[in-house]
Order: sequence, then C-alpha cells, then structure tokens
Amino acid sequence: MNIILMGPPGAGKGTQAERLVEKFGIPHISTGDMFRKALKEGTELGLKAKSYMDQGKLVPDEVTVGIVKERLMETDCQKGFLLDGFPRTIQQADALEKILAEINKDLDAVINIKVIRDVLIERLTGRRVCKACGATYHILFNPSRDNNKCDKCGGELYQRDDDTLATVGNRLDVYEAQTAPLIEYYKQKGLLKEVDGAQSMDEVFQDICVALGRE
Ligand SMILES: [Zn+2]
Repeated sequence: MNIILMGPPGAGKGTQAERLVEKFGIPHISTGDMFRKALKEGTELGLKAKSYMDQGKLVPDEVTVGIVKERLMETDCQKGFLLDGFPRTIQQADALEKILAEINKDLDAVINIKVIRDVLIERLTGRRVCKACGATYHILFNPSRDNNKCDKCGGELYQRDDDTLATVGNRLDVYEAQTAPLIEYYKQKGLLKEVDGAQSMDEVFQDICVALGRE
C-alpha cells in the first residue's frame, strides 16, 4: 500500500494518517520527520539539508529527493508507506516517480481529502484559547459553558493570530495555489482518489478505505 495523502489545513489529514498507519501497518512519512531523522542520524544528505536550513535557505530539491529516497529504501517501507507533505511540486512528483522506479515500487493511490473553503474556515477560525491556563476550545465543536470564559479556571478566552480569518484565508490560498497543479498531475495519471472531508472522521476513513479497495 504505497500512498500519498493530501488535504488542506483543517481537513483532518493527521487523524486519517494515524488510522491508515494503524490499519495497514505502514510508516507515516512526513517531510518534517524525515528531515529530523536524517539530521539526527547525521547522514550526508541530512547534514547538507542542515547547512541550507542554518543559512535560512530553502533545501534544494536534489537534497530533499535524496532524503526521500533513503527513507523509502528502509526496511519498514517494505509493506508500503504513507507520504505526507511530499511531493509539493510537479518537479518533486517527477523525481518521486523516478525514485520509485529505481527501487521497484509503484504508487497505489494519491488520496485527496476535499473540504469546501467555508467549512475549513469554520473549523480553523473557531479555536479559542484561555489566556490564563492555555486550555483550548472550539466555538462549534468544543465550546466552553460560558461563551468567553474558561471552564477550568474562569480565564478569558481569545483567538490566536494564527486562527484569524485573514491568516487562515491566506494559508488556504497558498495551499490551493501550491497543490492545484499537483492534483491535476495525479488525476491525469489515474492515481487521484478524492474523498469528501466534510463528513465525520469515521466516514472519511471509511471512504478512504473504499477508494483504496481495502474495506
Ligand atoms: Zn483556563
């Protein structure tokens, strides 16, 4: 089961990734984890990546792609893998195709969890945090008993800058612009499976399994 998982912020990708990992016994490979692992192990590519990051520069594709290749060759990927956050560009997708050919693997599916923008905005802007104790609430999904006060300590609730409409809207714009070409790319290759992410977590997972032909 060799899968790429895609979805915008707020689509519940993390939860679905956890469930897929559990069901199929495959590793969840996110770009951040991969970089941290390569750095920790001090691999040549990990050190190269670090030198770019230390200078505040973007890690070039050839380094990233090399790290992905090393990761996919590890023994825990024999049963499959779940890639998350890579590829981000068409160039990286092409590079991934080459890597997989070199190590005799095929992509089974690219799962895209789709959620309309209004729902994402509702999910992402509803978070409230207690000024005093840091407890988090959601105005729709996990509201405090008294609108603006913390249930635990009575502290005042506020909205973080990250959760404001302007910031959330911008994050969604960036995500859409970045991934639209990639989604088209995998659609043309016949690998794209779109799942309705506006449903409950259980229903989304069920649909993903159906899309994979592994109910
Ligand atoms: Zn509190």
